[in-house]
Amino acid sequence: VPVSNIRNFCIIAHIDHGKSTLADKLLQMTGTVQKREMKEQFLDNMDLERERGITIKLQASIPCQARRTEPALIANLMGPLLVHFCGSLISLNFLSKSVFSETQWDAASRMRYMFENEPYCLNLIDTPGHVDFSYEVSRSLAACEGALLVVDASQGVEAQTLANVYLALENNLEIIPVLNKIDLPGAEPDRVIREIEEVIGLDCSKAIPCSAKEGIGITEILNAIVERIPPPRDAATSPLRALIFDSYYDPYRGVIVYFRVIDGRIKKGDRIYFMASNKDYFADEVGVLSPNQLQVNELYAGEVGYLSASIRSVADARVGDTITHYDRKAERSLPGYEEATPMVFCGLFPVDADQFPELRDALEKLQLNDAALKFEPETSSAMGFGFRCGFLGLLHMEIERLEREYNLSLITTAPSVVYRVNCVDNETVECSNPSLLPEPGQRRSIEEPVVKIEMLTPKDYIGSLMELAQDRRGEFKEMKYITENRASIIYELPLAEMVGDFFDQLKSRSKGYASMEYTFIGYKESELIKLDIQINGEPVEPLSTIVHRDKVRLIFHYVLTLRRNNLFLCLNSVILGGILSFEISANF
Ligand code: GDP
Ligand code: MG
Repeated sequence: VPVSNIRNFCIIAHIDHGKSTLADKLLQMTGTVQKREMKEQFLDNMDLERERGITIKLQASIPCQARRTEPALIANLMGPLLVHFCGSLISLNFLSKSVFSETQWDAASRMRYMFENEPYCLNLIDTPGHVDFSYEVSRSLAACEGALLVVDASQGVEAQTLANVYLALENNLEIIPVLNKIDLPGAEPDRVIREIEEVIGLDCSKAIPCSAKEGIGITEILNAIVERIPPPRDAATSPLRALIFDSYYDPYRGVIVYFRVIDGRIKKGDRIYFMASNKDYFADEVGVLSPNQLQVNELYAGEVGYLSASIRSVADARVGDTITHYDRKAERSLPGYEEATPMVFCGLFPVDADQFPELRDALEKLQLNDAALKFEPETSSAMGFGFRCGFLGLLHMEIERLEREYNLSLITTAPSVVYRVNCVDNETVECSNPSLLPEPGQRRSIEEPVVKIEMLTPKDYIGSLMELAQDRRGEFKEMKYITENRASIIYELPLAEMVGDFFDQLKSRSKGYASMEYTFIGYKESELIKLDIQINGEPVEPLSTIVHRDKVRLIFHYVLTLRRNNLFLCLNSVILGGILSFEISANF
């Protein structure tokens, strides 16, 4: 089809508002997938999907009962204990619930649709749904000209929806509001329309009522996509610029890159060049997703597709990077690229020292798929051999994955963020490993990363959520009612206080009704100290942690009274010889 008949769009929705169900219906209505083949396909592809980590992106984490089934005692005891060492940090009692759609489709899918006797090509591009993926979301949006804003008509606008709509507006996307679940008796489309208009300032006079489940409103949505979303710019003669919005590692073909051609064209066999990672490859295969990979000869500006080029790691083809031709390079790369840098670090040690090689293999595999994951060996005489790992923020998910998918039992040390230490010699060093923190005599001050969080909540839980934020050293910024019943609360608080169980707490305190979104805003000086732990007079460096001065007393209290017996018991099982002394010291 000509470029004027292409529409590239994505779906913005809060988790559970019906994104997957609607995507399924769009694929069915356009005949892209048949209902009968869907289930089988889904089953066939499940392991593959696992392997590629797509599940992670589709997963909603829900707080669940504490995990007590681990064979290793230590994992159980150390987990909850370390939470309290740092006042807030990791919680191991997370289980993930996979939210699978009926249909199997990847990061994008092409649909054919007839409108007024003309064929159109609609490309649906997926956006990850987790708060830690806002950069990936922004790159998916940048690959589109429009977005469906799906809001559950029985609920309303949520924090994550808001954040993503703002991203879409920044990218100049045409937004089509869709009110889903109108079949529900509790649906109040008019109230939700007012909410969208008031909160986002979006014109909802042409909002589409729909029930993805019952198949109501689907044709109206498809027509609106054609009529209201602008076609891509026709720029097929410019030098190639294609935006990468997703990639995954395939053990047989290397990295599969998903991209939107913004300018120019790309052909099988082309020598391509990745502008940010500075790597070049020959494109072995170029194709479209319909929804399965289907090879084509060439893709033009405006089209969405995939390529493989025997790329060995996703680090070479990062989300947000620009693909151009090696021999005819674009002058400038596409805007918006950011290097994925780990935000949270922790030590991972196998409970059973024999599992060290398996842990290394598992981390190497994860890294093939995750450009942000970093790790290096760490050893300690008490804990044995392990790794210091850096994650984007999905700490609990990644650890859960390592344990579940690779069958490992792990000891996880208290997570740490990246601190900035101003030293007496006027140098500033970054430190993500508390055991490497410069001595008190050498440092003048420590700065920690701070995030701005926005919580949206029904008014009944305002008090409890403010207490939570206050508890985590949050600084109150603003509160406003967005409707009669729902409020937006903004706080600034240290990232270290957020990386653990904050999200968990938010959900349980609000019975699941509150939602949140956060952005990194900068570094701030803080009164931080280092806690060291010694067992039998021997320092156990990986257990060192950096905490705020005010939290220290709490920790001592906790360790000495509540967990004494358990702690000794569990340490006993890793450290040879009995425990004679256990000592925590803080350097003020
Ligand atoms: P996602 O998290 O946004 O992908 O949401 P899903 O598509 O997985 O839907 C979440 C839940 O809402 C599922 O149990 C769906 O069956 C249900 N659901 C989705 N659309 C509708 C709808 O139009 N009406 C009703 N009653 N339920 C729906
Ligand atoms: Mg879903």
